[in-house]
Amino acid sequence: MSNMTSSEQQTPSSDWGPAGDEYWAALDAGRLTFQRCDTCGKPWLPPRSECPHCWSAEWRWEAAKGTATVVSWVIYHTAFDKRFKDRLPYNVAVVELDEGPRMVTNLVDLPEGEQDLIGRRVELVIQSDLGRALPRFRLSGTAP
Ligand SMILES: [Zn+2]
Repeated sequence: MSNMTSSEQQTPSSDWGPAGDEYWAALDAGRLTFQRCDTCGKPWLPPRSECPHCWSAEWRWEAAKGTATVVSWVIYHTAFDKRFKDRLPYNVAVVELDEGPRMVTNLVDLPEGEQDLIGRRVELVIQSDLGRALPRFRLSGTAP
């Protein structure tokens, strides 16, 4: 599809190839996983068939503990994906897993008016939404 925007490509229907299929299957089974390179040792997300650091095709899956830190976040007042139109406004965050990979996600169960989120510790919540098990995060209650 040539008319997709970059934001639409980050939605749950993202086609990340065979590695993506395995990633989604692990989430369906209740596990957030990431890939780690057997050549350079670096971890990454989102799923892809070669290491984004050294292009090695030798890698393995690892299970994330599910603990992370908020790197950045924004509130969307425009639905870049029409499936999210009824949810406005909603947040989109980047979190860094304790194992290293960063991922785009949503923060859930935020206290009303909570704005001080960067650097906060969060924990994984796998939620069923849009026909998929989606990895989201909530504040872990242990402010740094
Ligand atoms: Zn590598």
